[in-house]
Amino acid sequence: MTEWNIHPIRLKVIVIGNSGVGKSSLMNRYVNHRFTNMYRSTVGTDFLQKEVNIGGTTIILQIWDTAGTERFQSLGTPLYRGSHCCVLVFDVTSKLSFSALDMWRKEFLIQGDPPDAANFPFIVLGNKTDLNHREVSHKQALQWCEEIGAHYCEGSAKLDDHVENTFIKVAQAGLQQYKKHTLENTGHFQITCKQPRETHNNCEC
Ligand code: GDP
Repeated sequence: MTEWNIHPIRLKVIVIGNSGVGKSSLMNRYVNHRFTNMYRSTVGTDFLQKEVNIGGTTIILQIWDTAGTERFQSLGTPLYRGSHCCVLVFDVTSKLSFSALDMWRKEFLIQGDPPDAANFPFIVLGNKTDLNHREVSHKQALQWCEEIGAHYCEGSAKLDDHVENTFIKVAQAGLQQYKKHTLENTGHFQITCKQPRETHNNCEC
């Protein structure tokens, strides 16, 4: 039996993008089923947790928010490290927030230094589709996602539109990443443990 059938798996998900695009609103909507029009001003990294079931596997999604620190641009290595999926959020009524995603993605890849970076799962989320002064079209967003190999979702934290679906997609992508790299690590562990057993015969594993 593999490890992911026994224990709940903790997946680290990081939600990044410009300040004001709705990152904490999306998380709050998904985890606490709440929405507020208040603009949060506190600074400090935080996360919310939610248990989900993906194809019979229990997952604890640990969703990390930048909690305002994105205003200082570089969020630093500890926040990004160990992530299984990265959600890049923009506001569909702000071209600026969309064009900033390229910088956020690069920042994540450099600071987070994930294994197999070329295949790391990114989900791009266009928020605030309830507003009608849209500056970024669905087609435009989709085109960029195809270029970078990311999955595209759009919706509204305010109306609770497509929020659940998006985080299920995030959990699926994160689980795939987890399985791939746990398997790789297990393989490496077996190879490195075998040698001392054969040569010194005192390995406990
Ligand atoms: P963050 O800085 O990216 O975490 O953004 P917040 O979650 O604090 O949201 C910034 C502002 O956008 C707040 O006033 C929210 O109420 C508002 N907001 C967030 N999501 C939506 C949405 O889907 N639709 C609309 N109309 N406003 C939203």
